[in-house]
Amino acid sequence: MHFNIENCNLCPHSCGVNRKMGQLGICRVGIDPLVASIVLHKGEETVISGEKGVCNVFFAHCNLSCIYCQNYQISDNRLSDKRWLISYDIIIDSIKRILDDGVETLGFVSPSHQVYQMVEIINRLNSLGYKPIVVYNTNAYDSVEVLRELNGLVDIYLPDFKYYSDELALRYSNVKNYRFIATSAIREMIWQKGTSFQLSNSGVLSSGVMVRHLVLPGHSKDSIQLLRHIEEEFSSNLSISLMSQYRPNQNLSKKSSINRLLSPNEYEEVVKTLFTLGFHRGYVQDLASNTYYLPDFNASKPFFDVF
Ligand code: SF4
Repeated sequence: MHFNIENCNLCPHSCGVNRKMGQLGICRVGIDPLVASIVLHKGEETVISGEKGVCNVFFAHCNLSCIYCQNYQISDNRLSDKRWLISYDIIIDSIKRILDDGVETLGFVSPSHQVYQMVEIINRLNSLGYKPIVVYNTNAYDSVEVLRELNGLVDIYLPDFKYYSDELALRYSNVKNYRFIATSAIREMIWQKGTSFQLSNSGVLSSGVMVRHLVLPGHSKDSIQLLRHIEEEFSSNLSISLMSQYRPNQNLSKKSSINRLLSPNEYEEVVKTLFTLGFHRGYVQDLASNTYYLPDFNASKPFFDVF
């Protein structure tokens, strides 16, 4: 497996910095792991969480800078918290403690800019005899070449396809050409895993692709265009997880048009389109979800236990 970390092109930003020599690109992460939290999380889609939940590794910083980020306490690249720079030994011990309780699945959240570190964690666990189901939980701003390197290592791809409109992607996440990049990345994920699911003996997802989409207030039309795009590019057999959990974060300007909750009508419009297009596998989040999904990474347990 080869990653070009000396002329970094691990994600589509292709900053070209030498991370081994301490140079930092847009994500502002070197070659050591920057991990904000390792927790047992029961709030993923039921087929992924199962009864026992998922051991989630939350990488700090991000290769996107979404102004409404639900994980803003850990994703802002300007933040530098020394507690996040932890050794592989501590990371592996924390993961082992959770897996030893019978948890089958290990999720990596926002791994695109720390894919090198993610692979190191997986290899170390494998060498100790741990072979968890690996989830790659991403914003879909991924390089196809890097995803090809992950073939056989990642079991479940969980891309969040955020926007249809490139103008919205630029306005809210400060990134160009998002739709083409995310579409190409998801095509590669589907090429590796197909559109059907495989389950483990205990009934949790052990292989597959599920595309998430968070509906933003005021942008139901974009969500509808995106669903049409997914159906045309891939198929309505693809699993979709439609999410309503959006809550404005404290960094949003009071005047921002997305500084409000999603209304029932606009969400309903998107849900209706999902079914009209023939999507029949996946999840539709209840609108009330916006009251309990916003994590607090300053608390000892960042998530409410919703199950
Ligand atoms: S992973 Fe970081 S340094 Fe590398 S290309 Fe992406 S943003 Fe730039």
